[in-house]
Amino acid sequence: MQQGILFVVSAPAGCGKGTILGQILKDEKYYYSVSATTRNPRPIDIEGVTYHFLSKTDFEKLIAENAFLEYAQYCDNYYGTLKAPIEENLSKGRHVIMEIEVQGAMQIRKLRPDARFIFIAPPSFETLRQRLEHRGTETPEVIEKRVSAAKKELEMKVYYDYCIVNDILDDAVADFKAVVRAEELKISRKA
Ligand code: 5GP
Repeated sequence: MQQGILFVVSAPAGCGKGTILGQILKDEKYYYSVSATTRNPRPIDIEGVTYHFLSKTDFEKLIAENAFLEYAQYCDNYYGTLKAPIEENLSKGRHVIMEIEVQGAMQIRKLRPDARFIFIAPPSFETLRQRLEHRGTETPEVIEKRVSAAKKELEMKVYYDYCIVNDILDDAVADFKAVVRAEELKISRKA
């Protein structure tokens, strides 16, 4: 059976990546990598579906056990990808989508030269701030932190293979599918 392709997707918070991925993941050829995190669940979060929510102590125990493919600290919380489900799904021929921030993505870049890196960008910082405010799940202080993290993250897009600007959702989803299709048709995927 042909191996699936590992897609690493990064986007500053509020870029609408959740909405794009929601459309993409309707297709069962994808497996969404559920990360572990120490951040507090938001109302829309579901344990084991959006994240595995862990205490700092439990997360650090898993770090010590070398259970993570990558992990990073982002806005005062740990986030990490557990190794086992990734390999299992790729070997079953499913494309794996890891939705992680840039530090983690750069770790994967070194570990997996066959992975493909997609950056999702907001049309502007003003749109980004509005989307975060509209979501209404973060305090103004956290929003400021995330907008400034986003500015730094945006500078990192040069390290990715593709950049999709999420202005009109349907266009962004079509662009994502076009990237996947092009990668499926590639003869060799080694970087
Ligand atoms: P949020 O708290 O908004 O769900 O996620 C904050 C950031 O953490 C986002 O940029 C998201 O992509 C990133 N993130 C989520 N899971 C992981 C992970 O497993 N590893 C890393 N490095 N970043 C993650």
